[in-house]
Amino acid sequence: MRMLPTQMAMDGMIEKILLRKWGTSNLNQASVEMGDAPIKNWKGSHLDFGIKRSLPTNPDVIKQVERVKYHCYSCPLGCGGICAVQGKFKQTHKPEYESTLALGGLCLNNDMDSIFHMNEVLNRAGMDTISAGGTVAFAIECFEKGILTKTDTDGLELTWGNAKAIVALIEKMVRREGIGDLLADGSKRAAQRIGKRSADYAIHSGGQELPMHDGRNDPGFNLHYSAEPAPGRHTIGSQLYYEMFQLWKQVKNLPRPKLLYFKDRKYIADEQKAVMAAACSKYMNVANGAGLCLFGLFIGAGRIRVFDWLNAATGWRKTPENYLENAISTPIPF
Ligand code: SF4
Repeated sequence: MRMLPTQMAMDGMIEKILLRKWGTSNLNQASVEMGDAPIKNWKGSHLDFGIKRSLPTNPDVIKQVERVKYHCYSCPLGCGGICAVQGKFKQTHKPEYESTLALGGLCLNNDMDSIFHMNEVLNRAGMDTISAGGTVAFAIECFEKGILTKTDTDGLELTWGNAKAIVALIEKMVRREGIGDLLADGSKRAAQRIGKRSADYAIHSGGQELPMHDGRNDPGFNLHYSAEPAPGRHTIGSQLYYEMFQLWKQVKNLPRPKLLYFKDRKYIADEQKAVMAAACSKYMNVANGAGLCLFGLFIGAGRIRVFDWLNAATGWRKTPENYLENAISTPIPF
């Protein structure tokens, strides 16, 4: 599809409907097909994890075990869910899209029961599911290349999609036991310890494993992953986010993307893209500071009147431009 019908992407009301029904799991299979989800430690595609293979992660399949929905205070969307599952944990949070893909497609793992389990284990340990999945995928690729052997992995057969071994590895990482201790600090540090060109397979930005949106599909993600003070975040900006935020409706002099454009335009670095990225970054600083949810912002600045609400709550009389001028990111040291 060389032409993008961006007026659809621009209207986040569609995403609102999907979020309400399925939560972020609405993207589980769609993102793979769109080329948005990284597969097989970023070297695969929908050909490796297509509709048939990824069926257990289908949002309707997951919905069958969802027992109750939950939401943050007063949120009309309510994207969360509690699921009844088999295994050690009888009840667990519905894994987010990011967790499902990091522990699933990124490792070619289509065993949804194992994803429910690992998601719960990692949540209880306070560990990030994206980083954990990215680090496991790194370890699997090292195993595939012979950089890690069964002697290094405490006997685990770390092959693509081997759910049993992936679960065992995650549990070892949580306990910092054996190979788990080597991997528990993420792929960058593990690669420094392993050596042998393993760094080629550690996909990270500033030591942060990348989230489940491929910058080769939307280069705006890559810009934010690499240039934000807190690197590797998918919750700040992209070209798609800019289109959905529709900030030009509130902020003077921001560019309005055309309703139709050729996809290859996305890959041309120009000043307009830089302005769009800076606007996303500043807008999210304002929104995060105000405690607003990114998902709500997707329905567009014309509907979510963040700047008016802030003025009403504080008594300030700032313009949208004033708010964005003062929104500065704070670097996080690594
Ligand atoms: S505030 Fe955001 S994260 Fe919380 S339930 Fe609503 S949409 Fe989901």
